Amino acid sequence: MQFPIYLDHSATTPLDPKVLEAMLPYFTESYGNPATLYNLGMMANEAVTTAREEVANVLCASPDEIYFTSGGTESDNTCLLGVQSSFQDRSRHILTSPIEHHAISAPLERLTRAGYEIETLPVGKDGIVDLREVEKRLRKDTLLITVMHANNEIGSVQYVQEIGALCRERGVLFHTDAVQSFGKLPIDVRAMNIDMLSISAHKLYGPKGVGAMYIRRGTPLNPFQLGGEQEHGRRAGTLNVPGIVGLGKAALFASRDMESEIVRLSALRDWFITSLENSIPCLAISGSRSRRLSNNVHICVEGVAGESMLLALDAAGICAAAGSACSTGATEPSHVLKAIGIPRELAQGALRLTLGKSTNLASLEFTLDILSRTVFDLRKLSGTFQRYAT
Ligand code: PLP
Repeated sequence: MQFPIYLDHSATTPLDPKVLEAMLPYFTESYGNPATLYNLGMMANEAVTTAREEVANVLCASPDEIYFTSGGTESDNTCLLGVQSSFQDRSRHILTSPIEHHAISAPLERLTRAGYEIETLPVGKDGIVDLREVEKRLRKDTLLITVMHANNEIGSVQYVQEIGALCRERGVLFHTDAVQSFGKLPIDVRAMNIDMLSISAHKLYGPKGVGAMYIRRGTPLNPFQLGGEQEHGRRAGTLNVPGIVGLGKAALFASRDMESEIVRLSALRDWFITSLENSIPCLAISGSRSRRLSNNVHICVEGVAGESMLLALDAAGICAAAGSACSTGATEPSHVLKAIGIPRELAQGALRLTLGKSTNLASLEFTLDILSRTVFDLRKLSGTFQRYAT
């Protein structure tokens, strides 16, 4: 068995060696600025063009609708804050979900302070936005809906196509954070009526610090970052050429392997979920059973702290996350678990295990063994073992 057993692919993924290989020349040989007109710069520019096509192909978009950024956070911020300034004197009502990443909820808080009305759509226990609620809450002055495609903690997959159709029907802009779903689920921005979408390279075996946004042609959006005419004036700053090349290749490889990985990982995920339920008493699976990312397992274990499980797993060479990686360290239950109605005490025992390319049955069997023994020991230590015995 190979250690560490990495089960935190929703936090980040290792760089694919083939992606690295494609990136390397753009650090050393073809280091030109893609905005320059001599050969060295044009070589870099050609590589950026290829990457733009590679990303666009995965989204069924046109290359001129893809804008490179520094990652998912910047893409989310640009789409939300850019829409604000470009629609200043128009509608001010925005719909969102309560389980968005902070890269969405923080800019929305700023918009609230700027006088926008942000309304949160309810989600069920499965972490899915109810479409009837979307329909009910859409108003004449609704400017935008921003609902993520797949959740980073519990892996729930939203009815993005249906929300997109409602938005198009009512002339409302639709943004989706696809950081967790890009390369893992098929996305067709046209069929799904998506106006803006955010992605990040490091979730799909690409480099950190690079991402992109899709902005449908003709969508008015003010730039967030000023100071240059790069990316058609929509995102100033010298392009991160090696990173962009890496994103393009990561997107290409992910789309090539998508179908087979969905089948392989769903089978492993389902085996793991069933085995956890059979081996650990008083354990709840969070989120949806059916509309779930194929690599996501999220559990809440009664009477055990998530952090204690993490430490024990780490000592055995297993990397996982308590709740969301971004909120690790916080003692408050995550906003996602609160939104799906998981009681505070149960949420303390939250553990997220996210599968990826390196995951196989042997690594999950080993994790299952360590985890069930850990829970047994921790419950015994706290004197609560009897309470949770079946
Ligand atoms: N949106 C979601 C759903 C995420 O999971 C993340 C990262 O975990 C981000 C946005 C931020 O992306 P990045 O790390 O590229 O800034």
